[in-house]
Amino acid sequence: MRKIKIINCRVFTFNEENEIFHRGEIEIQGDSISYIGKVREYNDETAQEGYSRVIDARGQVCLPGLINSHTHAPMTLFRGFADDLPLMTWLETKIWPAEDRLQGEDVYWGTLLSCLEMIKSGTTTFNDMYFFMDDMAKAVLESGIRAVLSRGLIGLDEKKAALGLEETEELISRWHKSADGRIRVMFGPHAPYTCPPDYLQKIMGKAQQYGLPLHIHLAETRFEVEQSKELYKMTPIEHMESLGLFNFPVVAAHCVHLSPHDIEILSRRKVAVAHNPGSNLKLASGVAPVPQLLEAGVTVSLGTDSAASNNNLDMLEEIRLASLIHKGVSGDPLVVPAYTALEMAFRGGAKSLYWDDEIGMLKPGYKADLILVNMEKPHLCPIHDPAAHIVYAAQSSDIETVIINGEIVMENREIKNMDEEKIMYHAQKQAFMLTGGMVDEGSAD
Ligand SMILES: [Zn+2]
Repeated sequence: MRKIKIINCRVFTFNEENEIFHRGEIEIQGDSISYIGKVREYNDETAQEGYSRVIDARGQVCLPGLINSHTHAPMTLFRGFADDLPLMTWLETKIWPAEDRLQGEDVYWGTLLSCLEMIKSGTTTFNDMYFFMDDMAKAVLESGIRAVLSRGLIGLDEKKAALGLEETEELISRWHKSADGRIRVMFGPHAPYTCPPDYLQKIMGKAQQYGLPLHIHLAETRFEVEQSKELYKMTPIEHMESLGLFNFPVVAAHCVHLSPHDIEILSRRKVAVAHNPGSNLKLASGVAPVPQLLEAGVTVSLGTDSAASNNNLDMLEEIRLASLIHKGVSGDPLVVPAYTALEMAFRGGAKSLYWDDEIGMLKPGYKADLILVNMEKPHLCPIHDPAAHIVYAAQSSDIETVIINGEIVMENREIKNMDEEKIMYHAQKQAFMLTGGMVDEGSAD
């Protein structure tokens, strides 16, 4: 069995006791953590014994891997293709027409590009909703990353609606709990405004049958809330509650426009919220009431949403935004402090994915998903509080080593399982074909 030891780093476990070890050691056996604590004393001969690798991580901080709780990975192909537009115009005139031309090959290369970007910025798990899921799962398998995949379900056309559910069942039978347990599947009803009530009922029936959680967009824009009130005399949250959606484990992306009653429902029904500050700002959707959600005891995690509305998948950026915008909006510098913002990306992420029995913190028995951040940088000097540095000062390029499921997938910024040049070449090529020459030709050759 593979056995790795990391020594001499400062370890933030983010476990229930929030233990910190100033000169720590982590031992990994197979895919899991077998020891975490103060560095144990060894003499020179026994230090390496029985280990396939010993990493001396002096000057580095070890954290759990970042969890991106809401994204659409293949949309990296649309990065920079359509900017500065309102959500519905952006979707209807740019994104949906380009997506109509998508093929499996695009999804494969787009996902690989995302996995590359995510691993290089410390993300070890992502939660996705898209289509051509076989191709996405293949890319996840090859990259070494951990992922929860949902086939996006839209119920506006009967044939497509049925096909979506069929493909979800295929995805479950082929990929759920595959790739050494790195891949899991959820049901992915896109949103209340694209899934009529009878279709949502069908999806819930299937979710019941398979015992899997659901991933949905909720209350993203003011328009969505107005439309729901007009059609159903209820907010989207009240509407979903009345249909019984919250009888299931649900991760709801966005939840920007919420009434106090909505927040009470989310709290009482233990709905997890994936907060996407970057995407909400860029599409001018608004600012989610995160301090109020946290106050009400709602699990809040962080997501990038797609690279088409962000425009990157850098979770350190989302952590910083989450901690900054709520201070600015509320006029209270005490809301979403650094440690809380980090917790949203670790334990909050794991809870949102209903996977917090294995990931989201560093402790024995948990999966070995962790990152090493090099703190010996001018912009991180001097070090008073390393956790505050990660939130307010660090850059994703400070993340040097990434371990997922006990496997070193990046070391000293070098990616192990993927050919960076090849992936960027193919992604550029596929993006160019999809967007019909909208990509700068000079950079496509
Ligand atoms: Zn989304």
